Amino acid sequence: MGVFNAMETVVAQLFEEFRKSYELKCDCKTCQEDMMALVLNRIPPRYTSSEKGQLFVKGEYTNQQLQSDVMRELIAAAAFVESHQHHRDGTASP
Ligand SMILES: [Zn+2]
Repeated sequence: MGVFNAMETVVAQLFEEFRKSYELKCDCKTCQEDMMALVLNRIPPRYTSSEKGQLFVKGEYTNQQLQSDVMRELIAAAAFVESHQHHRDGTASP
């Protein structure tokens, strides 16, 4: 229903790829969401209706330029979140 930002799906999918090759200092939900929020703020949103959304995401997901942009932002976001963790020390949990 309604409208959503297709980039949320693209970034979430690329984040899974990113995690395979990059060892996160903390991979709790808070840090993961912080990273994705940082990336989504830096990548232009692509709002689409939910019906067209799936097709659109498929197209964007194979866009090499977009993939490398998102990956570059993920690396920057991971470095930022690692040095600005929001959750309290020692209380990290999935
Ligand atoms: Zn964390």
